[in-house]
Amino acid sequence: MEKQTSIVEENVEKPAFVVGERVEKFCIKCKEERGHVIASLTKRGKISRVSCPKCGTLGTFKTSAASGTKRKLDPGAPYDQTRSYRAGQTMVHPTFGQGEVTALIEPLKIDVLFADRIRRLIHAQSANH
Ligand SMILES: [Zn+2]
Repeated sequence: MEKQTSIVEENVEKPAFVVGERVEKFCIKCKEERGHVIASLTKRGKISRVSCPKCGTLGTFKTSAASGTKRKLDPGAPYDQTRSYRAGQTMVHPTFGQGEVTALIEPLKIDVLFADRIRRLIHAQSANH
């Protein structure tokens, strides 16, 4: 009988971060890059949330910044309200610039984190007029 359960695949991403460690992140409230404390990790060991020690803001950490394997954060396609977005997707809004979908609020509404703050946008609107 062969046991294969112990084989560790090379491409499995190792948890490189530990809760409580510090990581550099731009704080939206403080408007400056500072060391944040890792508050929680994803199952894959990537940083999911960080808190700012100065203002206490709990924010999401852009995993692309912590991942060496991924290329730079995709700026995303231009915002299209007829498109259906999912959390984590990026977009470029004509007014607000680059944003990342943080949550689906309602079937047709999403929260998008832009450089300055989160804004609520509509999505998945039917294209017919
Ligand atoms: Zn802060």
